[in-house]
Amino acid sequence: MHRRVAIIGGGAAAAALLGELLERRPPHPLHLDWYTGGGALARGVAYATRSDHHLLNVRAASMGMFAGKPQGFLDFMQREDPSVAGTDFLPRRCYGDYLEAEVARAMALGKVHGHDVQVVPFAADAVVPEADGVTVFRGEETRRVDAAVLAIGTLPPQPLAGVDAEALASGRYVVDPWPLLAAPPAVAPAHVAVIGLGLTAVDVLLELAARWPDTRFTAISRHGLLPEPHLRTTALPSGDSAELIEAMLDAPDVHRWLRLLREAIAQEEDWRSVIDSLRPHIPALWAELPMEQRTRFQRHARWAWERVRHRMPPPVHASLAALERDGRLRRLRGHLQAADVDGDGLRLELRPHGGGALQVLQAGLAVQSVGMDFDVARTPHPLMRQLVVNRHVLPDPLGLGCQATPHGRLLHEGGVWPRLFAIGSLLRGTLWESTAMPEIRQQARAVADQLLAE
Ligand SMILES: Cc1cc2nc3c(=O)[nH]c(=O)nc-3n(C[C@H](O)[C@H](O)[C@H](O)COP(=O)(O)OP(=O)(O)OC[C@H]3O[C@@H](n4cnc5c(N)ncnc54)[C@H](O)[C@@H]3O)c2cc1C
Repeated sequence: MHRRVAIIGGGAAAAALLGELLERRPPHPLHLDWYTGGGALARGVAYATRSDHHLLNVRAASMGMFAGKPQGFLDFMQREDPSVAGTDFLPRRCYGDYLEAEVARAMALGKVHGHDVQVVPFAADAVVPEADGVTVFRGEETRRVDAAVLAIGTLPPQPLAGVDAEALASGRYVVDPWPLLAAPPAVAPAHVAVIGLGLTAVDVLLELAARWPDTRFTAISRHGLLPEPHLRTTALPSGDSAELIEAMLDAPDVHRWLRLLREAIAQEEDWRSVIDSLRPHIPALWAELPMEQRTRFQRHARWAWERVRHRMPPPVHASLAALERDGRLRRLRGHLQAADVDGDGLRLELRPHGGGALQVLQAGLAVQSVGMDFDVARTPHPLMRQLVVNRHVLPDPLGLGCQATPHGRLLHEGGVWPRLFAIGSLLRGTLWESTAMPEIRQQARAVADQLLAE
């Protein structure tokens, strides 16, 4: 008899789980229903880009899809070009090629192992978990499975408050930058406003600046700061991170943590080594942090953490510096208060950070690039709405995905669902560090272990 599992999501997280399951030889073969959502298989949002300006922000040697083979991506690239180094930041499209190749390989191997995979190239509409199984709905079709795993990535971006409906309908205020970057309009606006200054904004700026060489850009964020750059080579590992982690676990308080970090950084040649040494311990640190401290972190420290944790590859940093030097990019500190249609462009009102008179900006196009949305309680995503409205899952109180166990089992009011799991972004509130491949591949392995152990 087949053990039947539904994998819901068509991106890198789903690919990692599929790979983990098909590589193994459990006593009973598996039947996998893979609901992919209909996009480019395995590439998801991050690796569907074809642009050479869009680089991985993780070094090649750390991007393997399998927890047991962290160098898998590097090996794949070196087969074509032995000069590729593990420290390189390669184009994300190459990573998409690697994921596709790994999925094809896993499917072929799965067949040899007697597994059966059915790819359903649509979004799952609804999921109803029960103690002894899960029912998945898609259109008129219903399938009962032994277990289901949600790997749906981040939620569709929502317009910021203050953006007028007419501005949205005009297409001049763009909420989701990826379709725009895939096919930018042929006629270039003279001035583009980019709302946000994280890694998504960086992708937007580089791509549009290359496509539209005469366009000027204004990027707006609370602090007006770009992400920090990586070093060209890796930062040397921090001397004794065990002592730092222990001290942080003993004092789960954001204020004290910042002090401990400052002290640790003062001992190092480069601050990056301290930040990077925390990464494997972040789920444990986050778990220790009481809710009011998590709220404080979100409100006061998150923006600074994101800047140092999610860094830019050095060539990306150099390209942005050149745009600024050439006068094509300026950065403003402020919050978007309103966006309205004005003639054949937009009128944007900005509230300066810390108060002061409103600033007005005219732009032909505004591209919202404020990063990932995790808030399942407010999302229009049909599947997550269905799960939340029917109280099958519990939203994280800080809007960071769903409540779950550290091993990815989702919670409901009565306890833990034994057969409904999540990997990736939906676990942000449980693990904090849960959106990049080095963490996702570990989660894929842990969920595969649980699925096959039952
Ligand atoms: C621009 C960008 C750059 C990044 N760069 C890096 C990097 O360099 N290194 C790194 O490690 N991480 C990077 N990340 C993080 C990235 O999120 C992860 O590496 C990884 O791609 C996450 O994959 P995912 O499958 O969880 O999500 P996604 O890529 O978002 O894929 C989710 C998929 O699920 C589908 N889906 C949604 N709802 C349903 C449904 N109801 N039914 C079926 N399918 C559904 C979607 O259509 C989508 O295809 C980057 C992220 C972004 C946005």
